[in-house]
This record gives sequence, C-alpha cells and structure tokens, in this order.
Amino acid sequence: MNIHELHDAMQAAHDKHRACTSGKNASYIPALAQVDSELFGIAAVTVDGEVLTVGDTDYTFAIESISKAFSLSLAMDLLGASTLRRKVGAEATGEAFNSVIALELHSGKPLNPLVNAGAIATVSLIPGQHSASVWENIMARFTEFAGHELRVMKDVYDSETASNQHNKGIAWLLDSYGYLYNDPMLSVDIYTRMCSLGVTTRDLAVMGACYATHGVNPLTKKRVVRAENVHEILSDMMMEGLYTGSGDWLYANGLPAKSGVGGGIICVVPHQLAMAAFSPPLDSAGNSVRAQLALTDIIRELGLNPLM
Ligand code: GLU
Repeated sequence: MNIHELHDAMQAAHDKHRACTSGKNASYIPALAQVDSELFGIAAVTVDGEVLTVGDTDYTFAIESISKAFSLSLAMDLLGASTLRRKVGAEATGEAFNSVIALELHSGKPLNPLVNAGAIATVSLIPGQHSASVWENIMARFTEFAGHELRVMKDVYDSETASNQHNKGIAWLLDSYGYLYNDPMLSVDIYTRMCSLGVTTRDLAVMGACYATHGVNPLTKKRVVRAENVHEILSDMMMEGLYTGSGDWLYANGLPAKSGVGGGIICVVPHQLAMAAFSPPLDSAGNSVRAQLALTDIIRELGLNPLM
C-alpha cells in the first residue's frame, strides 16, 4: 500500500461520512455531551513513522476507554500476560462496557481488561500504595506511547468524578469477589483520571502504531511495550475492543480496534500501520458512528482485512 493511496482513501472516507447524522454524544458523562458533534478527524501512522491526517486531527478530546489498552500494556509488562489472564481474564463478556451483570455471571471475574470492570482491576494491579505513585507509573507509560506528555482534561475528570457512582459500585463488587488488588476508590480515581486524558486523533494514531510495530514507537524509535505482550493486547482488542459491537466490527474488518466514549477509535494493522478516527456521536454500543464507517471504508478500499 502506498502513502498516496492511503491518504486518498482517508480523504474519501472523510468526505463521504462527514454529513452522517447518526448517533449521539455520550451524555452519562455530562462534559462529553458538550463536545461539538460535527468534529471529525482521521489519522494514520505507518510503521516507518509517516503521519497522515485528514479533518479535525489536532482537536483534543478525552481518550476514555482507549486508555485501557495502554494501562493494560503497563500491567502486562510488569506482571506478565498469564497473571493478567488469571487475575482479570481474556474472554468476551458479551455485555455492555459497564455491565454489572457480566460480573455477577462469572463470580466477579471481570473477564476482559478492556471493559470497565477489567480495566479497574488492571489499574489496581499496577504497583503503588499511593495514588501519586500509581499515577506516575501510568503517566510515564502514556508519555512513551504518545511521544509527549498528555494532560488530564480537568472538566472531563471533574464531570466523570461527579457521575461515576456506577464504576464505584463495580469496584466494590470486584473487591467483594477478590478481583480488586488495591484500594477500590483509589483504583476508580486513577481509572477515571486516565480516561480523562486529552488526546488528538493524531496522538491516538501514533499510540496505536506502537502496537503495529510490535512495541516500538515509530516516531521516537523507543520500545514502549514488550514485543511478547503485543499479540495478547491485540487479541483482547479483537474480543472486546468495541464492546457489543466487537463481532460486527470483526466481521467487517478482521482487525483489532479499541473505542472510547469520547468518540475515538484506534485500529491496528500489524506490521503496517495504525489508524485513528474521532467523531463524538456514538451508536448504542458506545462506539463512534463516523469513526467506524470511515475506518471500515479505508480498510476495504486498501484491502487491509487480513482475513480476506
Ligand atoms: N470512562 C468511561 C467509563 O468508565 C469509559 C467508557 C468508554 O469509553 O467506553 O464509563
């Protein structure tokens, strides 16, 4: 695939789906409902470090659940994939991203690190008795992935902190079943802060591209995750990256991806590139409508589905 074809496909997908009116911004976190629904950006970063952008790719928005893939990388590097598998799980939940029923059905085991329960459990495994030390560990890893320091969006953090009773409930439930490994409220707070990190679509494409190279940031050339953990992280994305939309996504695209309720999606094409797309309106599973449409078009146009 050449760079010009990739750019043309990105531009065509942006032109085609810009006018799409389906979906609604997330509103259970009030700050996300305020974001301009028209925003739409697509970025790609190749394993050689070429960066391509179309649309609103410099706008900063909340990373939300896409952060779960990166905190998972840190936990896996520190503890090993088999520990994560035992203490968190590696199965599709088949339920919504914040499902309590999924927990109850499996004796409190979160099943997957990319749903809220699994991500809170994963964060609780990152060493540090105090909030500051856990947070420092996490921030250092995110900085390596992005190639620069990310900042917490205070309005999103405050808004999410004021409305995250459900996640607090999940943390106490995990704790009661023995699947939480640090203080429950500390873990939820770190998780919430991590979800409130501001990223651009371009940042996300760079971060995703670190998986396409099997662990090296293609811009800084530094290793940011152990190579042996990458296929497990990408497998988790294939199982659960778009929650109850994961099966539809996989049928259409055959590639690992991760969405966030801020409207972003990253998609990794191993050994080639990563793409990111952002637009706030979501479908009922919590995935950006325009981002899914655009990425699917690009993947099809360029024949990037490895299963076809
Ligand atoms: N911070 C959000 C929550 O906990 C993340 C959800 C998502 O992006 O899917 O609900």
